[in-house]
Parts: sequence; structure tokens; C-alpha cells
Amino acid sequence: MARDLFILLIWTSLITASLVWTLYNENTQLQAMALNTARANFNKDLAIRQWATNHGGVYVPITQDTPANVYLNHIPERDIITPSGQTLTLMNPAYMLRQVMEQYAELYGIRGRITSLNPLNPNNAPDDWEIKALQAFEKGVQEISEFSELHGKPYLRLMRPMVATAGCLKCHAHQGYKEGDIRGGIGVAVPMEPFLEESDKFDLAMAHLVIWLLGMIMMVVAMGKMRKQERVQQETNEILRKSEERFRTLFNILPLPLCYIANGKTIANCNHRFENLFGYGVQEVTSLEEWWKKAYPEISYRQEMVNSWFADLSLAADQGGTLPPRQTHVTCKNGDVRIMELFGVTLGNDILVAYIDNTARNLAEEELIQAKLVAERANLAKSEFLATMSHEIRTPLNAIIGMAEALWECNLGELERHYVQIFRSAGEVLISLINDILDMARIESGQMILEKTPFNLQEKVDTSMEILAVRAQAKGLKLTTRITGVLPHHVIGDPVRFGQILLNLLGNAIKFTEKGEVSLTLSSFTPIGSSFCQLTTTIADTGIGIQPDRLPQIFDSFVQEDGSIHRRYGGSGLGLAICKKLVEKMGGTITVSSQPDQGSQFTFTIPLQLAEEPLTSSHYEDRHTPSLTSKDWDKTILVVDDAEDNLYVIEAFLTDYGCQLEFANNGEAGLTRFKQKKPDLILMDMQMPVMDGLTSTAAIRAWEAANQLTPTPIIALTANALPEDIDSALGAGCTFYLRKPFKKRELLETIQYYLTQGCKG
Ligand code: ADP
Repeated sequence: MARDLFILLIWTSLITASLVWTLYNENTQLQAMALNTARANFNKDLAIRQWATNHGGVYVPITQDTPANVYLNHIPERDIITPSGQTLTLMNPAYMLRQVMEQYAELYGIRGRITSLNPLNPNNAPDDWEIKALQAFEKGVQEISEFSELHGKPYLRLMRPMVATAGCLKCHAHQGYKEGDIRGGIGVAVPMEPFLEESDKFDLAMAHLVIWLLGMIMMVVAMGKMRKQERVQQETNEILRKSEERFRTLFNILPLPLCYIANGKTIANCNHRFENLFGYGVQEVTSLEEWWKKAYPEISYRQEMVNSWFADLSLAADQGGTLPPRQTHVTCKNGDVRIMELFGVTLGNDILVAYIDNTARNLAEEELIQAKLVAERANLAKSEFLATMSHEIRTPLNAIIGMAEALWECNLGELERHYVQIFRSAGEVLISLINDILDMARIESGQMILEKTPFNLQEKVDTSMEILAVRAQAKGLKLTTRITGVLPHHVIGDPVRFGQILLNLLGNAIKFTEKGEVSLTLSSFTPIGSSFCQLTTTIADTGIGIQPDRLPQIFDSFVQEDGSIHRRYGGSGLGLAICKKLVEKMGGTITVSSQPDQGSQFTFTIPLQLAEEPLTSSHYEDRHTPSLTSKDWDKTILVVDDAEDNLYVIEAFLTDYGCQLEFANNGEAGLTRFKQKKPDLILMDMQMPVMDGLTSTAAIRAWEAANQLTPTPIIALTANALPEDIDSALGAGCTFYLRKPFKKRELLETIQYYLTQGCKG
């Protein structure tokens, strides 16, 4: 603002100075012109007077305006009469000049005056200015001029001395003048008005005013623009300053180690976190080279880092300035090696590098990987343990259940039958518990793989209902199936696991319902154009229901509503957990709603692929066997099993069927016996010492092939209840399999079937 005022002041001063200078110049010129005019007049007057003096005056007729000069009375020929009688009077030069001057003054305004300190004519007496001038002439001054007022008007007055010449003395000698004396002065007064009229001071002033005004306007506008530009510049500078300040603050407070590399090689700055973590300040690592030497002391590693740094830099140039992140092992000042992830951004020739400390994370990840490995190993060990346990328990259980069944058929008293019945049902409970535990272990260890087999949905549902019909009937419950809409005939899925879910939920419903109804409702929805249907199955009962506070945990493993349930109904609390896991594994969901004393409702929805026709049926599904038709088989059966108890069980089961039994207690012995006896059917245990069942079966098949014999039916008896065990048994050449513990009827029907059908059955 002050600067602007100063500029305007300068401008005003310049214009004023110009005006003053122009006016002064004009005035000087006017004065010079006036002076020249005055001098010209003076010269003219002097010339006229000189002429008159040279001629001793002139004679002129006496008129009113030109009377005879009284001051020439002393001159005898002052008046003369011409021959024609006209009187002429002598006009001395001064008289004549005065008259010329008067007329000139009248005509042109320039006044002339002849004056003297000692005038003859008192009218010619000098005024004050003239007195001073005349006195100055006496001191030798040749010319006096001055601008002053005369009769109230501006005039330039000029006066020069009048020197007495010989001619002058004719009239003035009597006053005592000699030639060369200064007799007085001739003065000229030039009126300045015409000159001043010529001068255009007003125009000049106006022109200056206009220029000043225009200048002022232009300057004010320019200053406004300048001020705006300055303000914008200032604001920009302020923003830049603030952002620089913020960048600096951010740079320092960010909890990330940062360093700023100028010109691609000089470490211009590194923040506190950098210093704290690596132990080096910017004074210690001024260049990248120094930093590399310190951070990567191992030469080969350093070389690798440097090479990849330059490779990344050239890549960053192509990819818009971002260095690809990478992991480095930085050696700190205290010798610690930290695993750092490096990020870089190029800013022109500069680079901002940020590090993320992954040391702890890498350590944690490694620990996690180790922990996962340990957990996986533990899980595998658990599964293996459970599988072994299951196998180990199944074998004696086979003997217990088998013998109990054999005993049941003996002629027993009422009390003994009751005891044997307890044996049988305890065995059943134990088998179902082992199956559940094994399923759970396999699901949790991720070893359970669901089958994808085409099956008849309606048939599967009917079979499940048939199995449970007896139990429902025994309790006097109504067991109903409702189908809403149309069900697809054939679907692709795991029929065994689907049946398991149905049996579990229906079994529970029957178990926990004392009176009323257990219903199964099915509905399916197939989106247009889809090859999948959503099958929704609801199992509802009118039983004891579940307390609302137990509902959220009801699908957890080993959860039962309370202790009294276990005491009253038994069970392990695994069934629902297995159902939930199976449903989820199938890609579905399961929910429950229940009211105590009103009943429960379990609903699960699973996607099932639609199938045109079942191509093959699952070999895990129970084979449909005919009921026993004959008791007199008259066949040779080879039983290969290392467990003596099982041999007894089989012997007991086959006692009444007219078979010749051959026994072998391992696979090798079984092979030898087979070659010797060529039995009609073999019952082959899988796990045996010396030679296992798989190897023995394969050897038998090889021998049969070598001797071009018809394959003998081999029924695998396996305590390994896993699908892969069954697969390997069938793969080795077994015709069919039976899971231990097997029922008497199951064994007999299977034997009868294969004895009549042979291997092709
Ligand atoms: P389990 O039946 O072997 O105890 P489940 O996992 O199948 O194991 O069931 C867990 C618990 O859920 C049961 O003990 C029972 O308390 C409750 N429950 C399951 N189904 C029903 C039902 N339909 N009605 C009432 N309670 C049920």
C-alpha cells in the first residue's frame, strides 16, 4: 500500500515537475521574445533619434499637436517661414522621438520613453525604476530590463543609456553636457499581455492533468492487478510453505522409517523412526552408497540389492513413479537384522523411501506356520488314533455282538435272554458312538470327501422312513412324509451322507417324542435354466422340545440339552454336530426352531445337481440282498482271519448251513489253503500279520488268472470302516465287503448271494 502511494506520489511529482518545467520554459521563451521585441524597439527608437540628431532636427508645420518647443527658445532659427509663408518649427530629436513613441504606443501599445536625471522637460522626469536604471548607467551598466507592472498591467521594461553625441550638444550643450556623457536613457515598455495571451498555460495544465489522471487510472488498475497477483502469489507461497511444513511434520511424526533421497543419490533427510530403528542418523549416512554399505554389510547381498534397486528405479520410471515393494534384510547399527518391506516413490529426481518392519510379522507368520504344522500333525495323529481305535474296538466288538447274537438263538431262559439283549443293545450303542466319533474326526481333519453319485431321491427318503417306521410304531407315533410340489427323480450327491442326516434327525425326533407325530416334509426349487435344485427338508415332531437358552449351542459337538436328557435318552451329543457339518459341506444350511413341550422343527436346505437317470449306483450303498432261501448250501468256505474270536463267531453263524469251513490265520496261510482246497467262497479279513488281506486277495486273483480259473467270490471283512479302505479292498480284487461288526443275517445273506451268483453278482 505504502509502495503504491509512493509510486502515485512520484507520478504526481513528475507530472507537476513537467508542468512547472514546461511553464517555466514557455515563460522564459516569452520573456526572451519580449526582450527581443523591446530591444528591436529600442534600436528602432535609437535609429530614429540618431537620424534626427544627424540632421539637427526636423522642421515641421506647427500644429496643435506639435507646438513650438519652448525648450528651444534659445535657438534663433527655431521657427522659420517658408517662401510660401508657412511657419515651420524645429523638432529636436527627443521631441520628435517622443512624438513617434507616443504614436507608436497608440498604434502598437509599445511605449517609449526618453528620460534623464536632469530633464529639460519636467514631463520627462524619471520614475523610481528609471531613476535606479539611470543611476546604474552612470556606473557603467549597459542595459537594464525588468518585468513589472505599469498602470496596473504587466510590461517588460527595458532601458539603455542615451550617450551625448556632437549632434546632441546643439540643444543640450547649455546643460553642460559634453560628447560621450550619459545624458539619460531611452526606455521601452513592451506590454506582456499579447505574449501572455499567446501562452496556453491552461491547455498545458489541462493536458498535464489529463495525462496525470490517465496515468493515475492506469497505475491504480495495474496496481490492483499487481496486488491481486501478489495476493495469489502470496497465497500460493503460503500454501506451499504450509504443505512443506506439513510434509516435514508428517515425515517426522509418521511411525514409519522414512528417508528422502535427493538427486537419486544423496540422503537429504531421514526421520526419527528411521534413526531409532536402524540407529543411523542423516549425518552418518549422507549418501545412498554409505547407507548400502552400512545396511547391507555382506558384499554379495549388497550387490544384489544395488542391482535390484536400479532395476526397480527404471521400472518405476515406466510405471508412474512407484517402486515395486520388496523385502530386504537391513543390518542395524546394533547388529540386529530386520526384515523390512521397502516402498519408494520417485518425485522428479528425488525418491521418498518408506520401510515397513515385517520382522515381528515374519516371526509370527513362521510361528503360525509351525503351529499350524503342529496342529495339522496333531489332527492327523488324532484321526489316525481314532481310526486305529475304531479298528481295534470293532474287532472285539464283532466278537461280542456276534457271540451275543449266536447266544440269542440258543435255547435260553427268560432271564438269560434279557441279559443277552442288554449285550446286544449295548453293542449297538457302542458301534453308533464309534461311527459318530470317526465321522466327526474325519470331518474336522478335512478327510471326509463327499461322493457325487446319481441316486433316486424318493427311494432314499422312503428307505430312511422304512428303517425308522418300526421304532415309531413301537412308541405309537404317527410317522408321515409330505412332499410339497414336485421332487426331482434323480439327483447327484452323496446318498449315504444324505441318508445319515435324515436318519439322525428323524431318529432324534422319534427319540424325543412320546406322543403325537413325527413328520418329514420335502420341497424343491429349481431356478429356470439351472442344473441344480435347492432341496428343503423339514423334520418336525411334537416332542419335548428344546429350552430356548440351549438352542444356540445345540449344533455344537457333545451338546445335549441337560444331564437328565443323557440319563433318560442316552446319546453322545454328536449327531446334530455331524448333521450340521455334513449339510455345510454339501453347501447348505441347517436351522432349528423349538418350543419346550410343544415340539421341534429341524430344517436343512442343500443344493443337489439334477441327474437324468442314475448311471451307476454307489458301491457304498447297501446292496439289496434276497432273504435266506436255503439252509443246505453244501459249500466250502475259507475264512482268513487272525482273530480267533471272529473265527468262532463265523463258525457259530454258519453252523446250521451245511458248509465246510476252512480256516487260515493270515493272508499267506489263506493263499496256501486256497490253492489246496479251492473253496467256493472266501471271507477275508484285511489287517493280519505275515500277509494282509489285500496282498493275499491280489495273490489269489493272480493265481486264478495264471491257472485260468473262474474267480472265486472274496468277501472282505473290514474293521477299517472308511470309504478308502473299501475302495482298496475292491481294488485288490475283493467281490464285496462287510463292515465289522456284521450281523448274522447280513453275513448269511451275502454268502448266499455270492454262492449263487458268483463274482458277477
Ligand atoms: P444325541 O441325540 O446323541 O444326544 P444329538 O447331537 O443328535 O445328540 O442331539 C443333541 C441334543 O439335542 C440332544 O441330546 C437333545 O437334548 C437335543 N435334541 C436333538 N433333537 C431333538 C428333538 N427332536 N427334540 C428335542 N431335543 C432334541
